[in-house]
Amino acid sequence: MTGVYDLSLHELTERVVALGEPAFRAKQVYRQLWQRAATYEEMPDVPKRVRELLATELPIDVEVLAEREADRGATRKAVLRLGGRHTIEVVLMGYRDRVTVCVSTQSGCAMGCGFCATGQMGLKNNLTAGEIAVQVLWARREAPNLPGSTPRHLTNVVFMGMGEPLANERHTFGALERLTDPDALGIGDRHITVSTVGVVPAIPRLAERFPQVGLAVSLHAATDELRNDLVPVNRLWPLATLEDAVAAWRERTRRRPSIEWAMIDRTNDSEEQAERLVPIAMRLHAHVNLIPLNPTPGWPSKPSPRARIDRFVAVLEDAGVTTTVRDTRGREIEAACGQLHTEVLAGSAS
Ligand code: SAH
Ligand code: SF4
Repeated sequence: MTGVYDLSLHELTERVVALGEPAFRAKQVYRQLWQRAATYEEMPDVPKRVRELLATELPIDVEVLAEREADRGATRKAVLRLGGRHTIEVVLMGYRDRVTVCVSTQSGCAMGCGFCATGQMGLKNNLTAGEIAVQVLWARREAPNLPGSTPRHLTNVVFMGMGEPLANERHTFGALERLTDPDALGIGDRHITVSTVGVVPAIPRLAERFPQVGLAVSLHAATDELRNDLVPVNRLWPLATLEDAVAAWRERTRRRPSIEWAMIDRTNDSEEQAERLVPIAMRLHAHVNLIPLNPTPGWPSKPSPRARIDRFVAVLEDAGVTTTVRDTRGREIEAACGQLHTEVLAGSAS
């Protein structure tokens, strides 16, 4: 059954009209669903009869199966289920100047990056647009519970949870519509970033449909030989092809892309890799984000030690590439990048 959160305003209007109600009711309901996360009982301006019909036809069934927190409450994770179907993981992170939610687009992932716990699961399901967007709804409700040192309202959305957003393009784009629609979540496009392993054919479509949405590309290696090992889809869309797609994205959107790079000890953290990354980052005017590897049970490598990270950063910065090293948020609750893997959590959390 389609859940109400899967419907666009247009689709909801069709359903409401089919129940014999005027079209304006649909907008009333839609706005309250998305802006107040209201249940039907909590919509006093909608007649009881209509509310009851909607509750039968289009039930709202977002279940929070588990919630956990870390970093003194500044990192929060939830396992959600919508419509009794897939379980979804979502992470909320409060920083001094922003509050970011990291959303999942698939349960598992088919892309097979060995170092990633989600990749180790394989693909279980694509999430629907509604399943993706309700994660942001949860985050918006949860943000006021963050510690006082953060803004305590949701400011940013990153598509960096489980799954490859551009391998579930239809639903990712549907979710982006719900996120940016002023009648729904109304989040500014510029506060949203989609992270991709490099599903090249979808990148121009993202640029066309959502030219203000940011792009992060998970590079992890600056030579095809090494990238083929770390990121198997590189065999399909090698570095040069990916770089061309990101360059065209930048032309179209006039935005600065990010390059993501998991720092894996003695694998992709050499000065030579950094030197090879420099011209790519320069050509793309990209910002480089280094993520110390989050160790996962299915992969023996270790994160790069501080000294190797510092040397890598020095090569990039000496060449004028802006670089940040991401913190290790949420590790103890398995809420960090690459650590999301639903079944294990759903079974162990309470
Ligand atoms: N599939 C998309 C988005 C989800 S992964 C992508 O790959 O971009 C979000 C980020 O976490 C990616 O940059 C990914 O490479 C990184 N990541 C995955 N596993 C990781 C791990 N074990 N340690 C550190 N970063 C990891
Ligand atoms: Fe999928 Fe991204 Fe993990 Fe690769 S890093 S397996 S693309 S979720």
